[in-house]
Amino acid sequence: MADSGNIFMVVAPSGAGKSSLVNALLEQDPDVLLSISCTTRQPRPGEVEAKHYRFISKDEFTAMRDGNALLEWAEVHGHYYGTPRDRIEESILNGQDVLLEIDWQGARQIKHHFPEAVGIFILPPSIEALEARLKNRGQDAPQVISKRLLAAGGEMSHASECQYVIINQEFSLALAQLAQIVGATRLRYATQAARNADLFSSLGISKTVA
Ligand code: 5GP
Repeated sequence: MADSGNIFMVVAPSGAGKSSLVNALLEQDPDVLLSISCTTRQPRPGEVEAKHYRFISKDEFTAMRDGNALLEWAEVHGHYYGTPRDRIEESILNGQDVLLEIDWQGARQIKHHFPEAVGIFILPPSIEALEARLKNRGQDAPQVISKRLLAAGGEMSHASECQYVIINQEFSLALAQLAQIVGATRLRYATQAARNADLFSSLGISKTVA
């Protein structure tokens, strides 16, 4: 197996604390590369172009999608979101682990192309906590918040499509659990064999899983 980079897909309803968890993971684990999605939604206060998203027009998005430049894409809350293909494919070919913050529709498409991709669903500890987090974020209008709460139920109904579930009640515990999943994934046979090809050869061990 030439490509030894792992793909982690972190999926959650808005307000589950996904971005904070992912950012904290990236800070403590520089070997995980975050995929920067394209979106047609407007930036929120504090969001930075090419750091949080590439903010593009609908026409630009359509051109990328039709030109096969997106690995997956979906319409979420009335806006288009997609994962640029080039950086991800190149990264995993080079053995780089990548993390995608995407919705369930995107996760399903990625899993179709990359069956080994690891799905991690972040759940809030309760529906009340989810609502409180959305309100406290203070970044969206009340109508947007109600829309996202409604959508949360739909998103969570797809949690069973992910192998792993983290309940984000206590941030430090949830972060440790996310790091554990990343760590354990790196120890999968295929990843170990690809990253330690010489050792496996010298020990006469198969590079493919039985
Ligand atoms: P937000 O607008 O709150 O940043 O994101 C809304 C939803 O879109 C979240 O569930 C987020 O994970 C999802 N999302 C962000 N980027 C992508 C992407 O590239 N592809 C897909 N399918 N969903 C995305």
